Amino acid sequence: MESLYVKRILNEVAEKNSGEKEFVRAVEEVLSSLDGVIQLNPKFEQSAILERIVEPERVVIFRVPWQDDNGNFRVNRGFRVQFNSAIGPYKGGIRLHPSVNLGILKFLAFEQVFKNSLTTLPIGGGKGGCDFDPHGKSDGEVMRFCQSFMTELFRHIGPDTDVPAGDIGTGAREIGFMFGQYKRLSNEFTGVLTGKGLTYGGSLIRPEATGYGLVYFSEQMLNVKNDSLEGKRCLISGSGNVAQFCAEKLIQMGAVPVTMSDSSGFIYDKEGITEEKSAFIKELKNVRRGRISEYVKEYKNAVFTANKRPWGVKADCAFPCATQNELDENDAADLIKNGLILVAEGANMPSTHGAISAFKKAGVLFAPGKAANAGGVATSALEMSQNSMRLSWTRDEVDEKLKSIMERIHENTLNAAREYGQEGDYIAGANIAGFLKVANAMMAQGLV
Ligand code: NDP
Repeated sequence: MESLYVKRILNEVAEKNSGEKEFVRAVEEVLSSLDGVIQLNPKFEQSAILERIVEPERVVIFRVPWQDDNGNFRVNRGFRVQFNSAIGPYKGGIRLHPSVNLGILKFLAFEQVFKNSLTTLPIGGGKGGCDFDPHGKSDGEVMRFCQSFMTELFRHIGPDTDVPAGDIGTGAREIGFMFGQYKRLSNEFTGVLTGKGLTYGGSLIRPEATGYGLVYFSEQMLNVKNDSLEGKRCLISGSGNVAQFCAEKLIQMGAVPVTMSDSSGFIYDKEGITEEKSAFIKELKNVRRGRISEYVKEYKNAVFTANKRPWGVKADCAFPCATQNELDENDAADLIKNGLILVAEGANMPSTHGAISAFKKAGVLFAPGKAANAGGVATSALEMSQNSMRLSWTRDEVDEKLKSIMERIHENTLNAAREYGQEGDYIAGANIAGFLKVANAMMAQGLV
C-alpha cells in the first residue's frame, strides 16, 4: 500500500514528465519501495524531500556542431543532467547513442543518485550524453565530435563539481579526446573525467570494474544460499565494456558463459566462452569495432541468431549487460521455465517491470543494476581519490577495494530490506539504503 504522500508525488511526477516514460518508471520503482521509510520518518514529508529528490538540480542542453570527413556540417544535441549533489560532486557517465534524449538521461541520472549513495563513497548523481552515434565514424570524426561536445560541457563540470565517465558509446577513446579538450580549455590537468587511460591519470581495474563487481555481487547472493557460481551456465547480453568483463570474471570464477550479443543479434556457444574466446571478443569489439556475428566464423560450433536476444537459451544465471528494457516478461517466462536461479543486472534497468514481477513470483534471486553494477562508479571514485592524491594504487589494491565495496553494498542492501520488513528483496533494500543517506544529507543542508 502506497502512502498518500508517495502516491501524490508519483502522480505529480507522471503529470509533469509525461513524455519521459523511462524516468517516470525509475521514480515509481524507487518510491514504491519507500513507504515504510516515509511512514517512520514524517520529517521527510515535512521537508518536502520527495518533491525535491525527483527534481534535477540542474539540466544543461546544448548544440554540438562538428564536421564529418566529407566536409559536411553536422549538429547533435548534448545534455548533462546534474541530479543531486547532497553527498558529493555529481558523478555519472556520458552516453553516446542515437536513442539519447532528456527522459532517458533523467532516468539514468536519477538511478545514479541512489547507486552512488549505495557505494558508501562521497559522490552525487548525474548523467549526460548526446544523440551522436559513434558506430561507423572514423577516429577523426569521433575526435572532432568529442572536442565540440567538451567545448560546451567544460564550463559546467570540474573535479569538485561534476565528474563524468564512460557509458554506452563512450569508451577509452572518447574519454581521451574529451579529457584532452578539457585540459586545453581549462589549462588544468585535473581528475575531471574518470575512465582515463593509464598514462594520464586512469586507474587500474576501472575498465574491468562494472563487470567484475557484478560477478562479485552475484557470488555473494549465491553464497547466502550456500551456493556459488562454480559450474553455472550463464547468459550474457551485450559485448561492450560491462559484458566483456562480466564474461572474463565469470570464467575466472569457474562459471560457463554461453552467450553474448550486440544490436544485430546474439551468439550461443554451447561449449562455453573460454578465456581465449573472450580475448577474441575484446579484440573484435574494441580494436576492429566489428560485429558479434564474426565470432561464429572463428568458432564454428557456435551459432549466431540475428535480431534476437539470448533469453531463450537454457541456463542457470542471466546477466543483461546491454541496455534498458532488453528483457521483458515473455523473456522472463522462458528463463523461469528453463530453470533460471539468478538474474543480476549489469545494464541500467534492463528488465521491464513485468519481468521483475515474474522473477519475484518465481523466487528467482534478482539483483537490480543500482546495486549490482555499482562497481564501475565506485572504482571511478577510487580513480578520483588517486588523482587528488596524485598517486596510483596497484591492480591488486584496487581489486581488493572493489571486492570489499561490493560486499558492503550487498550487506547494506540486505540489512535495509530486513530492517523494513522486506527480507531478501534486493530491489527494496537498494532503494531504501540509497535513499536514506541522500535524504538525511538533504535534511541536514536545509532547503536547497
Ligand atoms: P558499451 O557501449 O561498451 O556496450 C553496449 C553493448 O550493448 C554493445 O554490445 C551494444 O551493441 C549493445 N547495445 C547497446 N544498445 C543496444 C540496443 N538498443 N539493443 C541491443 N543491444 C544494444 O556500453 P557499456 O558496456 O558501458 O554499458 C552497457 C550498460 O551498462 C548500459 O546500460 C550502461 O548504462 C550500463 N553501465 C555501464 C557502466 C560502465 O562502467 N560502462 C557502469 C554501470 C552501468 P552495439 O555495439 O551493436 O550497439
